[in-house]
Amino acid sequence: MFEWVRRQLDKIGSPTLDWVQVEVTTHCNGSCIYCPRTVLRHTWPNIYMPIELFSELIPFLKYTDLVYLQGWGEPLLNNDFFEMVRICKDLGKRVGFTTNGMLLTEDTIQRLVDLQLDIIGISLAGTTARTHNQIRKGTDFNKLISHLERLCKIQAEKKTEVPAVHLAYLMLKSNFHELKEILPLAKRVGAKQIVASNQTLIVDPRLSGEAIFNDTIRTDYYRKTLEEIKHRAARENIIFDYHGPGLDDASVGCRENVHRVCVINVEGEVVPCVFTNPVLCESRELGNAKPPCYIFNEQSLPLRGMSFGSIRNESLTRIWNKKEYAEFRELFDPETRRKPGQTRSEMPQSCVKCYKRLGV
Ligand code: SF4
Repeated sequence: MFEWVRRQLDKIGSPTLDWVQVEVTTHCNGSCIYCPRTVLRHTWPNIYMPIELFSELIPFLKYTDLVYLQGWGEPLLNNDFFEMVRICKDLGKRVGFTTNGMLLTEDTIQRLVDLQLDIIGISLAGTTARTHNQIRKGTDFNKLISHLERLCKIQAEKKTEVPAVHLAYLMLKSNFHELKEILPLAKRVGAKQIVASNQTLIVDPRLSGEAIFNDTIRTDYYRKTLEEIKHRAARENIIFDYHGPGLDDASVGCRENVHRVCVINVEGEVVPCVFTNPVLCESRELGNAKPPCYIFNEQSLPLRGMSFGSIRNESLTRIWNKKEYAEFRELFDPETRRKPGQTRSEMPQSCVKCYKRLGV
């Protein structure tokens, strides 16, 4: 009886989500220089999401059309990754994930194509091996491109266009010039979409100067170049999207679409975005006297986790409808009638001092 009542209550106030993001592992085979996992490696919690925990989500996947299997880590390292994709596909969902591409062996590609995975995002930090490999340490640009060419070949053999290849280019001051070569590369690997993003969570203070939004003298140059690429991409039927390049201090939005999306971290915690993922702050729990920090506007600030509950002991519907979570989302709802000043004064400090709020 109690279970029946609980199920009925779960149906009331069911959310409609643009996508659900699930962190399936925090392990990684790369050591990108800007990644919190690399910078905080001595205390980083390396965890796999067990399939049993992932299965807790099944009743709630009906609230969304898209499941994105991504957090801080390389999803293909989770041995249950293919089973997770299969579960979502059997429920009729679109499924995507982002990878560094090192584990895209022939067998893995065949399985992903056969599962009809919808989106494969490829992380890039350069269009040459020299630049990419220097930034995305532990990965190999030439190997990555040959894996993507193999994906194209297998797609042609199987007469399918899925998964769609999306390139995710991390813009830094030192690799920005190579972005000009992104279109030939996209055509070579059959990518139809490119997103040029920023280093928005800066955990290594030495990399603060690498963020292009901090290079304000050249904002116009960045903007002009990005717009030119966007126009050229449109002529090739490739979507090119970019964030920034300048900061909008007055903004009260969030690039992460947090009012219509939720992130389930590797331990089942429901969090608004990967930047507030409690795994980033884990080292405090390990008794580390010095909490991990990030850099915002030249200030060093402690990383703070934000969780609204865990799917281990509560349903996602319940968590989504909690007063504190609803109030949090209301702050980012574009339809809100609040004044920007009021919204900013009610935002958690992690959001006020977050580059994603400033539009990059
Ligand atoms: S503003 Fe930043 S910290 Fe706040 S929800 Fe958006 S991405 Fe997360």
